[in-house]
Amino acid sequence: MFCAVAGTGSISSKGDCLNMRVTFLGTGDAGGVPVYGCECKACERARTDESFRRRPCSALVEAGNTRILIDAGLTDLAERFPPGSLSAILLTHFHPDHVQGLFHLRWGIVDRIPVYAPPDSDGCADLYKNPGLLDFYQLSKFNALTIGELTLTPLPLIHSKVTFGYAIEDTEGHRFAYLTDTVGLPPKTESFLKEWMPESVALDCTHPPQSETPRNHNDLAIALTIAKKLTPANIWLTHISHDMDNWLSSTALKQTKSIQIARDSMAIQLPIAKEHPNQGCLGA
Ligand SMILES: [Zn+2]
Ligand SMILES: [Zn+2]
Ligand SMILES: [Zn+2]
Repeated sequence: MFCAVAGTGSISSKGDCLNMRVTFLGTGDAGGVPVYGCECKACERARTDESFRRRPCSALVEAGNTRILIDAGLTDLAERFPPGSLSAILLTHFHPDHVQGLFHLRWGIVDRIPVYAPPDSDGCADLYKNPGLLDFYQLSKFNALTIGELTLTPLPLIHSKVTFGYAIEDTEGHRFAYLTDTVGLPPKTESFLKEWMPESVALDCTHPPQSETPRNHNDLAIALTIAKKLTPANIWLTHISHDMDNWLSSTALKQTKSIQIARDSMAIQLPIAKEHPNQGCLGA
């Protein structure tokens, strides 16, 4: 799934890459693609070609021996991550498509797993009451946390539940921001990011352009406005719905070197080589 790109990343004597790498494990909205029972073009395409499927939105961020899973909506976490393979789980918020994988994982009988989450006293269902092997820790906005070789700063977002995006930095100063689920950005988060200047950003783009401002998630117009304000070198649109996929098939959104559509299993290595920006995207 992953191979290093020449000229990027530092390799330790053990062969581990010391710089940050990010793998999009899931890039779908709550219904995913294909949507159950839907016969639209995007859903039919995803049924016949696995590479077009969109699973619950989540990502794995790695640097050296540090492996952090952002969001736990995938329901096969136990198969993907053998005991001891994750340093921590980081939650953006407690909507089911971001935490449903925890309901199975919690009954494991291995070492405890730290789960860092925004201060949402409701959580999701009985996760707090019956955490099993999960140790929940509450984060507070703009208070940075260091886990192994990565430093993470929680950034408030605008969503129907208390939600944090994350500004993530590796030990060599490479900066990546993960911003979903959200519609627009709160002013303080926007100012933080403008000053912090991430080189790469993953951004909620659930909907194609809408006639009215959406309530909970970015549409393409809002996502592009954010991209323009933050001007990162690279931006990956994620949390994508089947409507957005259909729109993308019918309208040629110019995928510039700086704005790209994330796909499940796509991996990026920071820093991304300036002369060949697309090589930052390592195939599935
Ligand atoms: Zn979501
Ligand atoms: Zn569909
Ligand atoms: Zn949500």
